[in-house]
Amino acid sequence: MGPNAGLSSASVPLSESALARALQPSLPTLPKFLQDKLERCSTLPTLPAVAIRVLQLCQSDDLDLGQIAATIGTDPALSAKVLRLVNSPVFSLRNEVRTVPHALALLGLNAVRTLALSFSLVRDLRKSQQVGLAAYWKRSIISAVAARELAVVTRFAAPDEAFLAALLQDIGMLALGRVTGRDYEFVATAAGDDHVRLAELERAAFESDHAEVGAWLLGTWKLPEPLRRAVAASHVRVRDLESLNQHSDLVGLARIVRLSGLLADIWVRADTTTATEVLKEEATDFAELTPAAIETVLTRTAAAMPQVAELFDLKLGTADEIGSVLDQATETLVMVTLRAARQIDSAHEAIDSLQHRTRVLEEASQRDKLTGLYNRARFDALIVEEFAIAHRTGKPLSVIMADVDHFKRVNDTYGHAAGDKVLVAVSEALRGRLRPRDMVARYGGEEFVLVLPETDAAGSAVVADRIRKNIEAARHELGGTEFLSVTMSFGCATLGPAIFGTGADLLAAADQALYAAKRDGRNQVVLHRPKFDGPVAV
Ligand code: GH3
Ligand code: MG
Ligand code: MG
Repeated sequence: MGPNAGLSSASVPLSESALARALQPSLPTLPKFLQDKLERCSTLPTLPAVAIRVLQLCQSDDLDLGQIAATIGTDPALSAKVLRLVNSPVFSLRNEVRTVPHALALLGLNAVRTLALSFSLVRDLRKSQQVGLAAYWKRSIISAVAARELAVVTRFAAPDEAFLAALLQDIGMLALGRVTGRDYEFVATAAGDDHVRLAELERAAFESDHAEVGAWLLGTWKLPEPLRRAVAASHVRVRDLESLNQHSDLVGLARIVRLSGLLADIWVRADTTTATEVLKEEATDFAELTPAAIETVLTRTAAAMPQVAELFDLKLGTADEIGSVLDQATETLVMVTLRAARQIDSAHEAIDSLQHRTRVLEEASQRDKLTGLYNRARFDALIVEEFAIAHRTGKPLSVIMADVDHFKRVNDTYGHAAGDKVLVAVSEALRGRLRPRDMVARYGGEEFVLVLPETDAAGSAVVADRIRKNIEAARHELGGTEFLSVTMSFGCATLGPAIFGTGADLLAAADQALYAAKRDGRNQVVLHRPKFDGPVAV
């Protein structure tokens, strides 16, 4: 396959199969042609001798810390670097550590082994540095520092393993560079500082990317499996890592390595703002990484950067330059958070106003347009509820049907508009001075109904007669000097002394009493009295 194959395509995303390869339980296998090339390559990065010996000692059955310390000690430059890193702000130890055995006792075997590995590897690899890969070292070393801080902040059990895994996450770039030479330089130059684009172009040109190649290389070095897996998955988004469905420590390490690279991009990429937004976006899938935690990691990474860079003989810019990128990133984080908060606010507002409108509409659908009283539909629903409550509690429930007397004459004499005006005035009289749980509805035309919970027959008669008197006394202005009065008839029924099967039966009894009031001369209140064999006038 030619070096430029696929380079013309705008974007080659991590394909389904590449994603599956990165996520599968066994480690990724490379395309055959690439693996052959790698296996034949004599200049592939190798594990330094001291690292091999330390690893062997760590894997032996009877662990001899003294021998491990001695091995690291045979390389004075290496032990000096390990000790300087241990004493740097990265570890924030209270007391100075002066010897490798002391470091081993204080930090444990894993931490020291990992550091020895990191330093010896970087030193060897940098001796034979390729052109065009300056950004490689910058990204690797910032990632390593960031990964350690991420591990500490999110309480990941093995921060030094995170350091090493992040440091090695892009080592496949060196291997690909060795086996494909100028072709790789071409790809790396085309990608610029865009790491996602780099992996896309690698896949287009070499049918694999440096994450897979890196994991393969670490496999040939027989490095621990979690390390190889984390490197293999370093191009998999945090969200997709969760579906790894493996041991949670594996996912934990992979997440940290993944984010450490995005975090390093803040200093590596020319566009700090975009790099910060990318990090923040992906961090939302990493629950432990709160906005405050991200800020802590950024600040601590920036603080540790100069010293770590010096240990690795790398220039990462002046303290001012590092600090100004940090400032810009922090500002971006605040902006993104504010933007998200505003979006949530306006979403809440939209929901509130929608709920408000729904309430208004619901309320409107229950009201009569002319009088503003509840309508028949609302009454029908309410009487069912109140009837059930009265039945359950054994408390009385009264219903009053009221009808304007000779209303047809009002319309006929003064016109429909005057009739409407009277109906509105009558509604006001009906509504006045009721208790909170009482309700009045326009049942239809000039017929109204009142529901009075916890009110007995005598009480309902008092309420009805008070309203009757008020209506009788009212004078309705008809324009000019003309006035008009109307009267109303009332029929009351009460659940309590009488037994009704449903609310509708109760209403029918009230209607029956109303009919009696009309028949007996109107402008009066009649109670439905079953004991007295039918309705009786008050
Ligand atoms: P009664 O004392 O027997 O109740 O006599 P009535 O004339 O009030 O009885 P009827 O039921 O025969 O007439 C009711 C009248 O009410 C008929 C209709 O024109 C009038 N009406 C019903 N709804 C409205 C309304 O919304 N506005 C107006 N202006 N009149 C209405
Ligand atoms: Mg009528
Ligand atoms: Mg009437």
